[in-house]
Amino acid sequence: MKVTKADSTKIDSVDFNNLVFGAKFSDHMLVCNYRNGAWEEPEIKPYGPFTFTPAMHTLHYGQALFEGQKAYHMGDGKVGIFRLEANAKRLNHSARRMFMPEFPEEWFVDGIKKLIELDKAWVPDDENSALYIRPFMFGSSEFVAARPSEDFTFCVILSPVGPYYAGNVKVKVEEQYTRSATGGVGSTKCAGNYAGAFFPTNEARKEGYTQVIWTDHKNHELVEESGTMNIAFVINDTFITPPLSDRILAGITRDSILTLLRDTEMLKVEERPIKVEEVVEAARKGTLQEAFGMGTAAVVSQISTIGFRGEDFEIATPADGYALKIKKALTDIRQGKVADPYGWMEIL
Ligand SMILES: *Cc1c(COP(=O)(O)O)cnc(C)c1O
Repeated sequence: MKVTKADSTKIDSVDFNNLVFGAKFSDHMLVCNYRNGAWEEPEIKPYGPFTFTPAMHTLHYGQALFEGQKAYHMGDGKVGIFRLEANAKRLNHSARRMFMPEFPEEWFVDGIKKLIELDKAWVPDDENSALYIRPFMFGSSEFVAARPSEDFTFCVILSPVGPYYAGNVKVKVEEQYTRSATGGVGSTKCAGNYAGAFFPTNEARKEGYTQVIWTDHKNHELVEESGTMNIAFVINDTFITPPLSDRILAGITRDSILTLLRDTEMLKVEERPIKVEEVVEAARKGTLQEAFGMGTAAVVSQISTIGFRGEDFEIATPADGYALKIKKALTDIRQGKVADPYGWMEIL
């Protein structure tokens, strides 16, 4: 791997006490190009702009996808990266569905480790902060014909991120618009999934909500996800989350939480279809104890209100509840405060 170091560092221009999510980037990036049917040698170089032609494929046809993960300070000057292989595998799941070349998993893991090694100073010290890792890939051929790109670019950039203050999360059950459909691309982190979600989310914002709860495309009866997070409910001391399908993104946070819960038996776990009706009924009866989103950015994000057909249901967001207990259990592993029995952390 070719490594070209930046002449100087921009780190002094960043206020680590006031980090806005995904707004500042470290000194280096990893780039790898796919040409003539093969990946070329990956390269680490100074973070900076790409130059591209107006006919660049991805600007027209959107063959683009991304990943997201975090690296943490683990004490003793060590840095740990959470479940990188899981991201490598999911990137390639997305790539297959989007008809893009798979990126070698060892290159993904080794490349990101090298990149973070070089930009280690960018991993925030504060224990509520982390270094966000953003791998992405896009079609980079120069032509405007509606056929697949032949050239691709894979890139990884790093962004120091602060604590995630979600405030009161009010979500609206979405019954008109759809994020994903059976047979579609909802299980991939393709760029278009997010573009398609902005409008319905903004409509919900206008009504005073922060996010939407996506429901199934067919009857809008089943709960699927919350915004860009997987969703879980605690009803009668049972953790309930919808099962994976080609409509749901297989979150690594979701998977990690399921693993922890099954091992610790903190509460009963059910991975099964859950109807909006069941959630609403539980809210009415007072058996809906908690609701929360699960994802890399916030880890766990408590939902305080669910809006359904003009009615708002308030949900408790207890400081000593399950959501925050689960968040702490996961964060403790990531920060090296407790043992990592699953080998989730890649230590640098
Ligand atoms: C990325 C993402 C998630 C969460 O995945 P994590 O691996 O836990 O970050 C959930 N839903 C959607 C739609 C996503 O894009």
